[in-house]
Amino acid sequence: MYVLLMGPPGAGKGTQAEKLVEEFKVSHISTGDMFRAAVKQGSELGKEAKRYMDAGGLVPDVVTIGIVREGLSKPECSKGFILDGFPRTEEQAIALDGILEGLGIKLTGVINVFVSDDELVNRVTGRRICKACGATYHIKFNHTKVEGICDKCGGNLYQRDDDKEEAVKNRLKAYHSQTEPLIEYYKKQGIYKEITGMQAIDKVYADVKASLTENS
Ligand code: ADP
Ligand code: ADP
Ligand code: ZN
Repeated sequence: MYVLLMGPPGAGKGTQAEKLVEEFKVSHISTGDMFRAAVKQGSELGKEAKRYMDAGGLVPDVVTIGIVREGLSKPECSKGFILDGFPRTEEQAIALDGILEGLGIKLTGVINVFVSDDELVNRVTGRRICKACGATYHIKFNHTKVEGICDKCGGNLYQRDDDKEEAVKNRLKAYHSQTEPLIEYYKKQGIYKEITGMQAIDKVYADVKASLTENS
């Protein structure tokens, strides 16, 4: 299973990736998670990425392509991966083709999770993340049993700096201008599938799995 999960910010890519990773034991490569980890460590990469992330812009391609190349080159990825949040620009998509060719890997599928802009704003502004394990929740749509505490590990939940309304609007702009055109790119490769993310999490997951088996 070599899969790209695409879609606008807040569509549910991370939520669906978590489920696929749990069921199929594949690697999860999320550029957003990688950048957030770098920010937490206070590394040079983190300092550079944070400037773009807080404003809701994209981190420059050279930087992003570099960390993905490194991630995909790890031996465990040869057994399967879910790439979540990458590529987001045409330059990244072209670079990814080159990286995969070098590794002798062909994508099994590209799944785009569609959600309307109005709904995305609700999702992103209500998103909460576990500080300890990274699990994703929503204050209304997918809340924890005890407010503010992770069901899985008991960690404290927090709101991402870039999940405030102003940054979200910029991220939606960046999505529509730079990432949405990739739909055509993958349609041409014949591996593109679209599902609606505007249904319950488990239903979206059922559709994700169905679109994966159609491909194989
Ligand atoms: P979301 O879950 O809302 O789609 P992510 O967690 O994937 O957001 O990404 C958070 C931020 O990290 C982005 O707004 C952007 O600044 C940066 N980022 C993540 N992936 C990429 C990428 N492929 N290219 C450029 N920047 C990225
Ligand atoms: P992405 O990785 O695409 O940015 P997330 O998986 O982080 O998106 O989901 C964004 C927010 O929406 C989270 O708070 C998550 O709990 C919630 N969410 C995810 N999928 C659904 C869904 N199908 N219905 C309602 N809320 C959802
Ligand atoms: Zn947790």
